[in-house]
Parts: sequence; C-alpha cells; structure tokens
Amino acid sequence: MADTPPRTAGSPPAQDTDVVIIGGGPAGCAAARMAASVGMRSILIEPDVLCRNLYRVPALNNVLGGHTNGPELADSITAELRSTQLCRLELGRYVTELRADDAQVTVTVDTGARLTAPYAIVATGVGPSSPATLPGSPPPAA
Ligand SMILES: Cc1cc2nc3c(=O)[nH]c(=O)nc-3n(C[C@H](O)[C@H](O)[C@H](O)COP(=O)(O)OP(=O)(O)OC[C@H]3O[C@@H](n4cnc5c(N)ncnc54)[C@H](O)[C@@H]3O)c2cc1C
Repeated sequence: MADTPPRTAGSPPAQDTDVVIIGGGPAGCAAARMAASVGMRSILIEPDVLCRNLYRVPALNNVLGGHTNGPELADSITAELRSTQLCRLELGRYVTELRADDAQVTVTVDTGARLTAPYAIVATGVGPSSPATLPGSPPPAA
C-alpha cells in the first residue's frame, strides 16, 4: 500500500479511495461502474474471478444487453470493469473485517492490509446463513 501523506492540522485524514466494494459479482461490478460514472474512485475486492457465479448460468433471458448465457454476460462485465480506470481491482483477496466510525470505514483484507474510505459497499451475494452465527442459536450438530 502507498505511504500515507502527512496530515496538516485540521485536514481530514487521507483515505485510500472513495468507496471500497466488497465482492465482485454482478452487484459489486455494477456498483463500481456507477461510482466511476459520477467520478468516484473505487477499490473492488474479490477472492475469485469477477462474476464467478454467472459462469454457472447456462441460459439467460432476463438481462439487458441481449446476453443469452451467463459466461457471455460475465465476460462482458469483466471487460467493462477492466477498462474502468477509476476502479482498482484486487482479485484473489477477501475481506476479513469491516469497521465503520463517523469519519470513515476501514476494510481489512486477508493479507492484513487495511483500506480506508468514506464509504463501503457490501456486495457479497446471498447465501445460506449459518444458524450458529445467530445469537441464541443452538450449536451445530456434530
Ligand atoms: C445455477 C444458477 C443459475 C442462475 N440463473 C440465473 C438467471 O437465469 N437469471 C438471473 O438473473 N440470475 C440467475 N442466477 C443468479 C445470479 O447468479 C445471481 O443473482 C447473481 O450472481 C447475484 O449477484 P451478486 O453480485 O449479488 O452476488 P454474487 O454473484 O454471489 O457475488 C458475490 C461475490 O462476493 C464475493 N465475496 C463473498 N465474500 C467475500 C469477502 N469476504 N470478501 C470479498 N469478496 C467476497 C464472492 O466471491 C462473490 O463473487 C443463477 C445462479 C445460479 C447459481
């Protein structure tokens, strides 16, 4: 990570980017494109390839752009993201912690590196929640 420039009295803390996007599925990629369209820099963190779930979708008939299968749509989104200069892709990394206070969010990556920004977008998709992670839930069966 780049060295943090010195702060002058009263200046806001320097931040790594304008928005950190956690997850590189269609939602995270769309967020990065929208951010760039209004001039915001983003860092998108994804442990796998972009839009990995779309590669498992054999046929599509409900998306804009005329794409008829998942891989085609995934390739199109990936090409668009790679040409988005305001978006820095961090592939092969995952987020281990997200903390927010009044001034900024701090996102910790699996390498231990910390990124700060005024905003973060959590776009980690939908998955089954583990009852064990909910307060008061019984322990998982052995
Ligand atoms: C077999 C199949 C068929 C489908 N068919 C269709 C269809 O015909 N039409 C349709 O509209 N939809 C279809 N879907 C659903 C579609 O794939 C999802 O709606 C879409 O992928 C959701 O996008 P998302 O960005 O919200 O989440 P996801 O695609 O799940 O992306 C979330 C990303 O977050 C990343 N992530 C998770 N945790 C972390 C972390 N800690 N740090 C960093 N990154 C993290 C994951 O690696 C993942 O890449 C299908 C899905 C499947 C599996």
